[in-house]
Amino acid sequence: MLSENQLEEKEFYFIDTHAHLDMIKNKTPEAAIREAADENVKYIINVGSSIEGSLKSVEYAKKFKNVFATVGVHPHYANRFGKRQEKILDSLIKNNKKIVAVGEAGFDFFENPVSKQDQQRTFISHIEMAITHGIPVAIHDREAHSETINILKNYTAVKNFKAVLHCFSGDAGFALKCIEMGLFISFTGVITFKNAKSAKDTVKIIPLDKIFIETDSPYLAPQPKRGQENYPSYVKYIAQEIAKIKEISLQEAAKITSKNAEDFFNLK
Ligand SMILES: [Zn+2]
Ligand SMILES: [Zn+2]
Repeated sequence: MLSENQLEEKEFYFIDTHAHLDMIKNKTPEAAIREAADENVKYIINVGSSIEGSLKSVEYAKKFKNVFATVGVHPHYANRFGKRQEKILDSLIKNNKKIVAVGEAGFDFFENPVSKQDQQRTFISHIEMAITHGIPVAIHDREAHSETINILKNYTAVKNFKAVLHCFSGDAGFALKCIEMGLFISFTGVITFKNAKSAKDTVKIIPLDKIFIETDSPYLAPQPKRGQENYPSYVKYIAQEIAKIKEISLQEAAKITSKNAEDFFNLK
């Protein structure tokens, strides 16, 4: 593994702002983290999507210097989120400096049996927790753009409110609307897929200083690895695609997206 000094000597580095190391099956989290460091990934944000996953996330952040954590309950499990779960997350945030966001939380209307009401209640609880603690929210929005916006518009004027739409799946018009509301946009390997015209158009149109990159590993492996298990080390493919679309160097794409993430999540 590269030491921090060696990393700093390199001209640029990447930050994987959304990964699930705890869901990787074909290698250990240690191996995935080491391989990422070898590919110039300076930080990995491990995202909690259940209470169990949030506990794992905190465990990794404690164990690995270059891993940060988020804690939250995904809309798939929103029906199992109540006061007790809220208390658990709240106390995790209070006691761990390396928790840099609340989430992932939001809406998922793709083959999700959980009611809209449960998803909304859970989402709102996460947003309010994030505001209370002065950290951002990592939002999951799948086939739920208007519902997501309808909730978020109630918070855009709140002082501590900061949010990112992870695995952005809207079109360019929706992205511009989100940016107007002060939101950030995070792209996965989906932008590298040959048929992802709408995603590529979205990257083209929105300013680079609003963009983060993420693998969402073990899901959504980028084009050269499509269909396989995904790892944080593959985040470079997403930066490469952004560089290509925006006609800038890989170095610039890496530097700016990394700085965006460091500022937003207050990584240090
Ligand atoms: Zn998600
Ligand atoms: Zn995720």
